[in-house]
Amino acid sequence: MTAPELLLRFDGNKPRKLKYNLAAARAQGASTLLTFGGAYSNHIRAVAAAGHTEGFETIGVIRGEEHLPLNDSLAFAVSQGMRLHYMDRESYRAKDSTETRRFLESTFGDFFLIPEGGSNPAAVKGCAELPREIAEPFDVICCPVGTGGTLAGIAAGLGPGQRAIGFATLKGGFLTHEVEKLQQQTYGKVFDNWHVEDDFHFGGYAKVPKELDEFAAKFGADHGFEVDRIYVAKMLYGITAMIEAGKFAPGTRIIAVITTG
Ligand SMILES: *Cc1c(COP(=O)(O)O)cnc(C)c1O
Repeated sequence: MTAPELLLRFDGNKPRKLKYNLAAARAQGASTLLTFGGAYSNHIRAVAAAGHTEGFETIGVIRGEEHLPLNDSLAFAVSQGMRLHYMDRESYRAKDSTETRRFLESTFGDFFLIPEGGSNPAAVKGCAELPREIAEPFDVICCPVGTGGTLAGIAAGLGPGQRAIGFATLKGGFLTHEVEKLQQQTYGKVFDNWHVEDDFHFGGYAKVPKELDEFAAKFGADHGFEVDRIYVAKMLYGITAMIEAGKFAPGTRIIAVITTG
């Protein structure tokens, strides 16, 4: 009997999610990208950086009030030329409404809109390219799930017999539905080669109890990289727990996508 084999693949998901969005923005002749996120959003950082290198103005609509000095994420976004616009939590919840859209257009003029977390069909298509770039044979591929675009795409890009497992980093059990919606919007169907594990969110988004923190510190020391606590640690903890619980057949080759890149 051979134990399941775990391979780490360092592959940042945000550039993949942006690739076809930037192409669409350019094809439409847009000069400005506008998107939404929390104050610690990796997506906000990624849009700011992409705008800087690809020649787009960028606007980040940030949930909540301004806190000065800016945290590292927002300071980085501003250093890349992003304009920040803060929205109170209640207005932010209505960010996808026509009223809000009109307000943003009257404030900022024309823009290409990328949704919160960057998950839309263009993002799903970008992530679907990931599995095909993996040279080693594998049976299962794992990723963390925030808004679901990464999992939706990875699963769609798999070959026969392969499956994907997403590890929810938010509580509430709604992410399966989000991934289904994204696959439906992108491909007109839902694939049956994936599922979401909802048991490893550790209390919800950005919650990092001691047990998770210690696991991440040890895993990072053993493998020589800094394990992101918000997404990657929850996936790695979940995979490790599932391996220990015998959830994978002997010899299963498991890829863990380290989405921080
Ligand atoms: C944004 C992000 C995720 C979540 O990706 P989704 O497509 O929103 O599910 C996972 N890991 C990292 C490191 C991220 O920044």
